Amino acid sequence: RRPPRSTPKPSSAASDVYKRQVLVSKLALKVQNLVKNYGGLQAVRGISFEVPEGEIFGLIGPNGAGKTTTFNMIAGSENPTSGKITLYDSDITGFSTHKLYELGLIRTFQLSHEYKKMTVLENLMVAGSNQLGENIFNALFSGKKVQKREREVVEKALESLDFLGLTALKSELAGNLSGGQKKLLELGRTMMTNATLVLLDEPGAGVNPTLMLKIIEMIRRLNQERGYTFCIIEHDMDLVADLCQKIVVLSEGQVLTEGTMSEVRDDERVIQAYFGAGVD
Ligand code: ATP
Repeated sequence: RRPPRSTPKPSSAASDVYKRQVLVSKLALKVQNLVKNYGGLQAVRGISFEVPEGEIFGLIGPNGAGKTTTFNMIAGSENPTSGKITLYDSDITGFSTHKLYELGLIRTFQLSHEYKKMTVLENLMVAGSNQLGENIFNALFSGKKVQKREREVVEKALESLDFLGLTALKSELAGNLSGGQKKLLELGRTMMTNATLVLLDEPGAGVNPTLMLKIIEMIRRLNQERGYTFCIIEHDMDLVADLCQKIVVLSEGQVLTEGTMSEVRDDERVIQAYFGAGVD
């Protein structure tokens, strides 16, 4: 009888692939049968989808499809009428934005939240000091321990600005930045937190074509190099096609279809849904 073959030791490259498979098979977010009623209007009618960890996931659909309402419920700014939302293995249905922030889920780009009269660097420091549960101004009057932490926040802010190519703008008032630069700053503010799952609300809106390429590159690098999982609502189909591995198409409060961009783009029902509502 031949001896059983021992399991070959995986090469380092194969082991990396295996690790990645294990990584991507973990679910960062699971939405089950989500419903939102406003009086007699059913804005979201039983939506379900899954976002594996490490993915850039796209949520698209014509105006009024229910994208924002779905994001609002995941991000904790609205309570679902029914359904369940799971972050990794935890049921987070109905959690506040604050609690979700602590758990590493944040939403960006909904509005420009930058402090217009503060510099770019100070904006990041505020995001970082919030993370530490501190009031930045206390640092002026506090002991060495807080000053050390403040130094760490400054270092992290400078590193984030470097990553995003914003170092030259560190002393600029945030209010003077262009639309696209403000979106990069928002990514920087995200990097100052402990977020692992980031909901991006129309990252391409109001951004000029050159900065759009930069924002796409930064989202991709944050995903690949820093391990962020992204969930994106976006009307710009080129951005979605460029970034998202999997896309869910909503229409009239329901999931119409899901797949890769090339799969959903050719789907007759998707074309119909967009034409019916008027393409953006
Ligand atoms: P858009 O791309 O235009 O932002 P959307 O896909 O994000 O659209 P939602 O904003 O989620 O769509 O809206 C879904 C439906 O719910 C629409 O019919 C909208 O009018 C309705 N709706 C949203 N918020 C409210 C609210 N607070 N009260 C009543 N109806 C609402």
